[in-house]
Amino acid sequence: MKMGILGGTFDPIHLGHLIIAEEAMSSLGLDRIIFVPAGDPWMKADSKITPSQHRLAMVLAAIADNPAFKVSPVELERNGPSYTVETLEEMQEDYGAQTECFFIIGADALKDFARWIQPERILELCTLAVVGRPAQEALDLTPLEATLPGIGKRVVTVGDVAIGVSATDIRERVAEGRTVRYLVPPAVASYIQEHGLYKEKR
Ligand code: ATP
Repeated sequence: MKMGILGGTFDPIHLGHLIIAEEAMSSLGLDRIIFVPAGDPWMKADSKITPSQHRLAMVLAAIADNPAFKVSPVELERNGPSYTVETLEEMQEDYGAQTECFFIIGADALKDFARWIQPERILELCTLAVVGRPAQEALDLTPLEATLPGIGKRVVTVGDVAIGVSATDIRERVAEGRTVRYLVPPAVASYIQEHGLYKEKR
């Protein structure tokens, strides 16, 4: 089996996430995508994050109509910060070493990859499937090769379909009373409204 993992804060999940997941599925021939909402995102430790039960509920609502999309609460159940390496180790235990794993990551997030915990081990456990984000220059692995020689062999790029939407935009729009229709799935827009999320500017 070939499996894609898309980790993120998903505060909230938006069409950008769903588009890259779908594109990774089709261009890499994956059997399923597992969305992994972060519990305590250590890279974003200084920003305020919506309680995990809301972020998880929005991911579930967003993927409900796609049987190939699943969610894993592993990082939400773990105490303390979320480290990708631990998540990938757990996935390997659950699915077995014969499952080929692709960790889907935006080109913006890849830039910091050398600062992640145990990047070499992460590269043993999975291939990085890198998705460009609009307004991002072409992928250049040279700076990462200096610290992580051979990373180029463990990175594949996913077709250029990403759209210029971010969770930050969505939160700002809601706080300003602007529409998020067509930027998030309808069920996510309803959830945000029903629970009064993102009303205050961060
Ligand atoms: P924020 O604006 O709060 O930083 P975000 O929109 O970047 O959030 P995350 O949950 O942090 O969303 O992202 C999870 C993963 O999805 C990251 O690897 C990120 O680079 C990628 N990603 C998010 N939005 C897009 C997009 N529009 N196009 C391509 N990749 C994206």
